[in-house]
Amino acid sequence: MLVLNGKEVSKVVRASLIPRVEKFKLSTGRVPHLAVVIVGDDVASHVYVKNKKKACEAVGMTSTIHAHPASITQKELNDLLKKLNADNGVDGILVQLPLPKHLSTDEVLGIISPEKDPDCLTFKSVGYFFAGKPIVSPCTPAGIMSILNHYGISVAGMNAVVVGRSNIVGKPMAHMLMEANATVTLCHSKTKNLSVHTKQADLVVVAAGKAHLLGKEDFKQGAIVIDVGMHGTGQGQKLTGDVRFEELNGWVQAASPVPGGVGPMTITTLLQNTCLLAEKRASQTL
Ligand code: NAD
Repeated sequence: MLVLNGKEVSKVVRASLIPRVEKFKLSTGRVPHLAVVIVGDDVASHVYVKNKKKACEAVGMTSTIHAHPASITQKELNDLLKKLNADNGVDGILVQLPLPKHLSTDEVLGIISPEKDPDCLTFKSVGYFFAGKPIVSPCTPAGIMSILNHYGISVAGMNAVVVGRSNIVGKPMAHMLMEANATVTLCHSKTKNLSVHTKQADLVVVAAGKAHLLGKEDFKQGAIVIDVGMHGTGQGQKLTGDVRFEELNGWVQAASPVPGGVGPMTITTLLQNTCLLAEKRASQTL
């Protein structure tokens, strides 16, 4: 079984970003910059945000963390986002979700400029994406496409099953696979006989958020399995996915592990998208 090593792919992609950042710096006198907005004191969210800043710096980009207490008002948050929209030195704006309950995520996603949305979450960016004219593509599915591409796996003509229909993973994943000429089935929590569908598939992307949901008996021999699930993200906990990876060896053709599969490529795609937005804005192709 070929292990689809997202950590390795991530290294290759990050190495390719370094000269792009250098070139951008030579032509503009600055480096691509990601502004990260975090509200409240959720420990895991603060860890994610610090990791994003570290990742930016590792490829020569810069990042500012705008940390605000949960008491921030919607107006204050909206004003901050409008300021970042207008700041020419900011290329990407990322609001760490979920937000505290008194704040409207929809309002936030309506304000961030699609030209500065590396997560492809704003309504306008999503519209362009599903219309087949992406400014950038959502990080997790785009990271998965990069992994497949790195290993020379073409999905054209494949029967692909996506398990999960969230706005950040399942839905855009199905769209990207369809755009790459796979025949796509989208399964979800109300799908009857999930295994009947997954067993037909040449490629299965599992993003159900249910630990160890699928194993060997759910895949056909020689299938390709991508595990997006992430469980046990607390300190000292062992990270696992939605797939019982240890059962797959000798049965499937290729599979991505957790950890070391999709996760590293999600954050690397965020860097790639921020760099791309910076380049597009500088060359006025947006
Ligand atoms: P979500 O909870 O928003 O969506 C889960 C989806 O799975 C839903 O559409 C639901 O209908 C479907 N589902 C739930 N149980 C099911 C079942 N038994 N059978 C079939 N479908 C089922 O989750 P999400 O945000 O899409 O994330 C999914 C998983 O991926 C989570 O574990 C999350 O932590 C992980 N994740 C990982 C990364 C990464 O970078 N590795 C990025 C995003 C999400």
